[in-house]
This record gives sequence, structure tokens and C-alpha cells, in this order.
Amino acid sequence: MSYLASHMKIDGYPIYLTLLGIGILILGIALARYLRKRKLKETMETSSESLSSEAPETTAKKLETKPKRPLSKAITNWIPLLREKTKDGDRWEEALILSDMGPSLADELISGLQKTDREPFVYFTSELKKILQPAKAESEPWKLHKPWVLYLVGVNGVGKTTTVVKLARFFRSQNYEVGVVGADTFRKAAIEQLERACVSNSVDFFSYKLSGDQTEGADPSAVLYDGLQKFKTKDIILVDTSGRLHTKKNLMEELKKMKRVGNKAMASAPHDIWLVIDATLGQNALTQAKVFHDSVQLTGLILTKMDGLSRGGSVFQLYRELQLPIRFLGKGESSADLERFDPENFVEELFDLEAS
Ligand code: GDP
Repeated sequence: MSYLASHMKIDGYPIYLTLLGIGILILGIALARYLRKRKLKETMETSSESLSSEAPETTAKKLETKPKRPLSKAITNWIPLLREKTKDGDRWEEALILSDMGPSLADELISGLQKTDREPFVYFTSELKKILQPAKAESEPWKLHKPWVLYLVGVNGVGKTTTVVKLARFFRSQNYEVGVVGADTFRKAAIEQLERACVSNSVDFFSYKLSGDQTEGADPSAVLYDGLQKFKTKDIILVDTSGRLHTKKNLMEELKKMKRVGNKAMASAPHDIWLVIDATLGQNALTQAKVFHDSVQLTGLILTKMDGLSRGGSVFQLYRELQLPIRFLGKGESSADLERFDPENFVEELFDLEAS
């Protein structure tokens, strides 16, 4: 055999030399792919670290100064590939991963793309709609209970307080009687901000007051208990909880306590617990959501700052990983910038290339 290998020749070269050449070539290709993947992973990690290490308030401040922009900006790096109608797996992998789609969903989509006759634009719009379709919350839980009690939870700076006001305004516009409980007792400024916004939207507000000042540091569960009692004749009670770091165990324990106390104050309350997520935080938002879900069993998500979203893949990854209905989208800082989530509209808007 070895005699044969050393004496057989291709184009005058011994066959073992040819085989060696092919082997080196295959190894070279594999190494190049590995290095490319590693580079992509590093880029992803650095970009999510740089976002997560920033104080949420800083991220929010940056967004404040940004003008409103079309949702299709969230897929800017896909646009040249869509226009070229390319199905190049490596280029699509880079584009999808950099938009926070997550490696497994990206791989799944690319292998589908390479098998289909449809061109990329048609393929992606239809597949992405399919992925999000179950995220549409068909039911309107606020119609099932009176009062319907909703807790809004999330980390500081994601837009929780703003969202409470947006929701209060949304429900008021549908003629529901709404009461807001300010159980964010860690920050006096947050309670005051919420109270002012409620007053200007003609929504009743409750929190503790001592000698005319709102209490900072009061037991949030006590505020919650009294707030639920006070608003028991309303149609809807929205509870703003303190922003917390998902990594702080005692804060997550306190949230569990608020769930128990709510149930004591009013049988079956809270009916829903929705997590407010800053959609621009990508991978970090996913980590937060998992911890909250493990602690208090979320029943829905609200994605905020969609007007500043630059990595649109994160929404698909969030839904894929959590399988929780997306209830509303926050699309700006004003109390009117709230939309009910609709997967069809969302994907259409994302792929409105003319708008970008
Ligand atoms: P909280 O700490 O979670 O209660 O966050 P806030 O409600 O105080 O919001 C933090 C910052 O995010 C504020 O500057 C808000 O105006 C801003 N914000 C909230 N929602 C949105 C949104 O949908 N889009 C944009 N661009 N900014 C938002």
C-alpha cells in the first residue's frame, strides 16, 4: 500500500504530496472559518459589555438626544445583502450575529435561506413573521378581572416609570378607571416624577406621604398593600415597582414578597407581571429577563426604546429564548409613544427599506 502511495503520480507529483496539499488546504479553510467565528464572538461580547457596563441612565441620556428614526435602521447591515440578493452563508452569518440574532437562530435562518428558492427579502420577511407570530398576545387580560392588577418590573433606567404612565394613558383612552401605585420607594424622585405624570394624565395615584413628603425607603410591600385596598373599585391597577439589579438576590426576594403580599391584599392579584426591557441592550436584556422570569414567573414583556434600536435581531432572540408574549412596544419618550405589539406590522416596518 505504502509502496503504491509513494509510486502513484498525479500530473507527475507523487500522490502523497497531492494528498498532503489537499489536507493542508482543508485545514487552512477550517482555521480561517474558526478565526472568523472567534472574531465575531469577540465583537459581540465587547459590544454587549460596553452597553452593560454603562449605567442605564447614561444609555438613556444618549438616546434622549437622538432624533426619531425608522425601525429599518435596526437592520442596516442586512440591507446591502438584501439588495444584492446574496445567499452567501458567511456574510449572512456576520450580519445576523452582529444584529444580536444569536448564533443558533442565525444558523437556522441561514440554512433555510440556502435551501429555499425565495430571494432573501421574501424569505426573511416571511420567516421572521413566523417566528414572532406566537408572541402576539391575543388575549386582553385587563378584560378578565376587575380590578386587573399588573406589576411592572425591570432594572433601573429601562423605562419602567415612563411605561407605567404610557399604559395608564392607553387604558384611560379606552375609558378604563385606572389607579397607579408608586411602590418604587427607593427613589423619592421617581415617585414624584410618577405622581406628576399621573396628575397630568388625570390618573389617580397612590404612594405613602409622611408630613407632606413622599417616603423614601418605606416598605414597598406596605405601600402596595394599601394601594391595592385604596383602588379596589378601579378597573385597572398598575403597580410601579423599584428598579432593581437582577443580580441582587435580596431585591429579587423582595419582589417575590410583593407577589405574596399582593395576593393577601386581593385574591388572585397580581394577575400579570410584565418585564420592561430596554430592547437596545441586546444580550444583556436577555440575561436580565431570564433572572426575573425564574424569580417571579413573568407573563409578558414590554420592549422599550424601540426608536433607538440598532440591532433588530435581539427582538427575535428575546422571544425565541423566553417564549413570553410581547405586549407593548415603547417607541419614544412621550406618554403617547406606546404601541400594542403586532408581529406582522413589526416585521413590515423593520423591512421598510425605503424608510431608512
Ligand atoms: P426607570 O428607571 O426604568 O423607571 O426608567 P424611566 O422611565 O425613568 O426612563 C429612563 C429614561 O429612558 C428616561 O430618560 C426616559 O425618557 C427614557 N425612555 C423611556 N422609554 C423610552 C422609549 O421608548 N424611547 C426612548 N427613546 N426613551 C425612553
